[in-house]
Amino acid sequence: MQELSGNLFIVSAPSGAGKSSLISALLNKHGDMLVSVSHTTRQPRPGEIDGVHYHFISVEQFKKLIAENEFLEWAEVFGNYYGTSRSAITANLSQGIDVFLDIDWQGARQIREQAPGTLSIFILPPSLDELQQRLEKRGQDSEIVIAKRMAEAQNEMSHADEYDYLIINDNFDSALGEFERIVLAQRNNYQSQLYKQKALLNQLLAKPAK
Ligand code: GDP
Ligand code: ADP
Ligand code: 5GP
Repeated sequence: MQELSGNLFIVSAPSGAGKSSLISALLNKHGDMLVSVSHTTRQPRPGEIDGVHYHFISVEQFKKLIAENEFLEWAEVFGNYYGTSRSAITANLSQGIDVFLDIDWQGARQIREQAPGTLSIFILPPSLDELQQRLEKRGQDSEIVIAKRMAEAQNEMSHADEYDYLIINDNFDSALGEFERIVLAQRNNYQSQLYKQKALLNQLLAKPAK
């Protein structure tokens, strides 16, 4: 993915910590960023729209896409398959658009191997009690599904040390501010600037002839 000018960001968290809310709040403020729409075999929640929140597909279709090498990464999470489509991401990055991947730690590992420049951010809740309350208040998952997600939370969080940045999502606006600062700083990393400012840098940074 070396020739791509947009930045790729991985955002992971235990379910209910607030990663979807943080990503969508950031996208509302910035027009030149988007979130990758994953494929999943889980059932849509009330209000979730096919093609907007996820591409909802069957297990058979998912396996066919794996065989066709359509996924940049895929993983089984909470008993369902989730995967990131390769084509949509490269098309956007090549136009200079920053892309967020809302994926679990297994997917994050696969992406880091393929795209080492990817910046990864882990979101933590202020406590396990608060995590449970958020899942309940969100009101979109059954009691059994919430229990499954709480049981997995510790496992997901045990991988936080594999990430570049950590955000505690206690006060939402503070967490959003931290998230925004990390993302905006990444836009000035040397490699990104080399692509975006090619002509100027060729002029200014040329080594003087001896
Ligand atoms: P939520 O995080 O509570 O909103 O639950 P979701 O059902 O949206 O996501 C379930 C898990 O699957 C989370 O850990 C996501 O990060 C992960 N996930 C979602 N999409 C993908 C994907 O495309 N690839 C991988 N590897 N994981 C994904
Ligand atoms: P995730 O995508 O990580 O599963 P969501 O973004 O869906 O999490 O957030 C889970 C629930 O918690 C949602 O109902 C959301 O409105 C709420 N929430 C997110 N961040 C905060 C926060 N800082 N304080 C209180 N509630 C929050
Ligand atoms: P939910 O079912 O609540 O939408 O998502 C549950 C978990 O699946 C979240 O932790 C989310 O980050 C993860 N997830 C969603 N899409 C993908 C994906 O494409 N790949 C991977 N690896 N994980 C994903």
